[in-house]
Amino acid sequence: MPLKLIDTHAHLQAGVFESDLDALVACARAQGLQSALICASSPDDWDAARDAAHRYGFGYLLGIHPFEARRTRPADLRALEARIDAALADPHFIGVGEIGLDRVVPLAGDAAAEAVFAAQLKMARDRSLPVSIHSRKAHDRILAGLKRFPAASGAVHAFNGSPEDARRFLAFGLRLGFGGSLTYSGSLRIRRTLARLPAGAWVLETDAPDMPGAGRRAAAESRGVPPRTEPADLADVCREAARLRGITAEAAAEESAAAACAAFPRLRRLLEDDDFFLGI
Ligand SMILES: [Zn+2]
Repeated sequence: MPLKLIDTHAHLQAGVFESDLDALVACARAQGLQSALICASSPDDWDAARDAAHRYGFGYLLGIHPFEARRTRPADLRALEARIDAALADPHFIGVGEIGLDRVVPLAGDAAAEAVFAAQLKMARDRSLPVSIHSRKAHDRILAGLKRFPAASGAVHAFNGSPEDARRFLAFGLRLGFGGSLTYSGSLRIRRTLARLPAGAWVLETDAPDMPGAGRRAAAESRGVPPRTEPADLADVCREAARLRGITAEAAAEESAAAACAAFPRLRRLLEDDDFFLGI
């Protein structure tokens, strides 16, 4: 049985894909990719994220990434709200993202960034939309935001936290996203966490073009070029997730897809239109 893969977090609108995305998506489809959630980063790429989703029949999320928080003005947030309301009629529109906080990157986790994050959480909450959250060294602040504006559902992408952090996010109804970091034997905490999570709690992602896996990084280093995560890399992440959980790759893909549909209900509707569920 071929894998049926859903990439729950990717940036296929990124400039590094400009010249060859058709070929990369075709390659990923050959590996079993059924759909991907394309996360926007700023007003500059809202159109591109939507257009890429329409081109390939994928989903997209609209939001402002914490790295963009420092240049975000109230007018940008008003524009985002208007874009979200207009997108509700679009079956490819899935939710609000990528939003969050990052306490490693300067100004991506300060009070101003928290205000941008909270405003977007509120937009999602008011419309019962799911969120795709970036949380780096900021789990407590993210959870404080969620306490004020609980999300309907969604995922914490590239999860890297303690079992207690995992438990707290799951208690808020969020799933945990795992990508290329899983494929490094030294990623002990991430690998141990995924191995122990119940089915339904975790989802697969690439974060393409970011978060290269071990194979992708080694290949890039041997050629002396910067690594670029590609959509087809999801199959490697899935196989590694399966090994860690002691199940088949097909079963891992299925667990992740089911959790992705629960986390992002509009994705489920989009896939139903595509007959994704035939044969599952
Ligand atoms: Zn991302």
